[in-house]
Amino acid sequence: MALQFTRTLDNSMKLKNPQRAPRVLIIGGGVVGMTSALQLLNKGYKVTVVAKEYASPVSSGKRITSEIAGALWEWPPAVCGRHTDEKSLDSYGKFMELAMNPKETGAYLRQSIFYFKDKVNDLPKQLEKMDELSHLPGFRHDAKLIEETAVNTDTGVVDAYQHMAPMVDTITYMQWLYKQCREKGCHFVQDEIHGLLRDQAEDLKRKYKAQLIFNCSGLNAKELAGDEDVYPLRGVIVKVKNDGSLMPKLNHSMCISLIEDIDESQKEGQSFVFILPRGDDKLWLGGMVQPNQWDKNLTLDYPPIRRMFEKVKEFYAPLRNYGDEDVEEVLVGLRPARKGNVRLEWDPVCPSLLHNYGHGGSGVTFSWGCAIEASAMVDRVLKMPQIYFSKL
Ligand SMILES: Cc1cc2nc3c(=O)[nH]c(=O)nc-3n(C[C@H](O)[C@H](O)[C@H](O)COP(=O)(O)OP(=O)(O)OC[C@H]3O[C@@H](n4cnc5c(N)ncnc54)[C@H](O)[C@@H]3O)c2cc1C
Repeated sequence: MALQFTRTLDNSMKLKNPQRAPRVLIIGGGVVGMTSALQLLNKGYKVTVVAKEYASPVSSGKRITSEIAGALWEWPPAVCGRHTDEKSLDSYGKFMELAMNPKETGAYLRQSIFYFKDKVNDLPKQLEKMDELSHLPGFRHDAKLIEETAVNTDTGVVDAYQHMAPMVDTITYMQWLYKQCREKGCHFVQDEIHGLLRDQAEDLKRKYKAQLIFNCSGLNAKELAGDEDVYPLRGVIVKVKNDGSLMPKLNHSMCISLIEDIDESQKEGQSFVFILPRGDDKLWLGGMVQPNQWDKNLTLDYPPIRRMFEKVKEFYAPLRNYGDEDVEEVLVGLRPARKGNVRLEWDPVCPSLLHNYGHGGSGVTFSWGCAIEASAMVDRVLKMPQIYFSKL
């Protein structure tokens, strides 16, 4: 089936009487929580967001995962992670819309090239999605891309395809999300919640005058939902400039799957590196996939990060002009992974609690798709309020 990437997204109902709209309490101020908040607000719901930490417009040294995301839209989602969900397709259409105004939203639409060490026709995951991929703007599957984009063939890449892909400058985008939500009346609270949400749902609903709760706490769903399947997949971004001073400015992204194991200790993750133009004049070099590693205090001297930096330089020779002194920042983030897949469902014990977490390396890619689905789930329960809504 050919999928329509530019479909109209918000075709679900708007509330008839916004005055009497239920209030939804969202726990989590990352991309998943805030996109859910905006989707609900757009439909007329009232929303309160409670988060321990929010994204910051200035470099604070303490960033939430959603700011550290490479934030490249990937299909199949993702080179890093195991999700095969179609939620990313909804996000494609939304980010395309937002990319009409990149300075304000932080969303860009750029040519993205994905390189492989095997022929794409031998890769089941890629091949399965080829029909959908071929409908993306700018799609081309051609090994000649390797030569045309001047990558080093000694690294073993033999095949490539390209298409236009949204990529998000997360610092700008998170602030855009907050602004949109604020303007639509969202109430923000900074607070940390401890313990199982289902045990305190009634207290939280009373405290925040809400009838429903969304759990968008990312990695902390391990505690708040008591979900032992949640684990961190540590990743890293090395930030350098892309202003044409050290090499010709790069305007397309490059994503290289399965170069070789960057860290031998991580048997579960797939190794990959990416080179992403960020905003107008930065380049984010990234990757690293280390399961169950929690420490974020790493520098360029940490051997797997050093090896990753060398790998990207080896892959794309113009990057060899960059030395350690050109690295502006090393950002370490813990992708909120979950064995199996994203959890997007009502809590089986506490019916007014909806879980939306575990997006791993695809939280930006899935953000709009999951938010749209979550709001449709709320629409549906409105039809059976006796089960879901407590009296205030
Ligand atoms: C190096 C790297 C590269 C990545 N590249 C991509 C990419 O190219 N494409 C892509 O789609 N994704 C990418 N990701 C993944 C993406 O960053 C995540 O999937 C996404 O940010 C998850 O968003 P979230 O809102 O669930 O979690 P978070 O951003 O972690 O937000 C969780 C929120 O919950 C709050 N919270 C947590 N616990 C509590 C509590 N107890 N009480 C109150 N509040 C709480 C936090 O303060 C925060 O506000 C990448 C990630 C990394 C690290």
